[in-house]
Amino acid sequence: MSSITDPAFLPVMESFYTIQGEGFHSGTPAYFVRLGGCDVGCTWCDVKESWDASQFDWVSIGDIVKEAKESKAELIVVTGGEPLMYDLSQLTNELKSEGFKTNIETSGAYPLSGTWDWICFSPKKFKAPLEEFYINSDELKVIAYNKSDFKWADQHGSKMQDKAQLFLQPEWSKEKEMTPLVVDFVKQNPRWKISLQTHKYMDIP
Ligand code: SF4
Repeated sequence: MSSITDPAFLPVMESFYTIQGEGFHSGTPAYFVRLGGCDVGCTWCDVKESWDASQFDWVSIGDIVKEAKESKAELIVVTGGEPLMYDLSQLTNELKSEGFKTNIETSGAYPLSGTWDWICFSPKKFKAPLEEFYINSDELKVIAYNKSDFKWADQHGSKMQDKAQLFLQPEWSKEKEMTPLVVDFVKQNPRWKISLQTHKYMDIP
């Protein structure tokens, strides 16, 4: 990983204006900032190319915000990789001072930093999340990759605050096998909702 530690710079893998495809904000136009770097190691990860942060340029927060302003986005989604490997306070301060709503997608494996209008917490079996995410998160999103994931989802869902939204999402490569099981689970556990990766069905990058 790069040795840059200046919090005014972040390793940006890609940034682009699109439609949030999944979870609570599905269907909402959003500017995505995907930060490089992740050591969680999910076997089914669909952005393995994000793992090595040294592959990416460190971009100033000023330039990240400037490019976001050039889109019509009102919502910024910071994702990864695992974006909380970095202190995101300065990024969210500058985004919020420009009037953006700030969302983050995180595995919860690193301490929370930054000011967020919405925290989507997606814990993974491969690296245990920190307890603070069960309290602070607005949304729990569990990826259903095999049958044991339903019990695992229930364990995590039961630790969330009452206000939190709970989503179960079939893993894309096993979507045909897992979707009927996800439907059954949600019918039996109506606090949960289904999240689909609609951007993949609609072929939206
Ligand atoms: Fe991939 Fe996200 Fe898992 Fe990291 S936490 S390995 S980016 S799915």
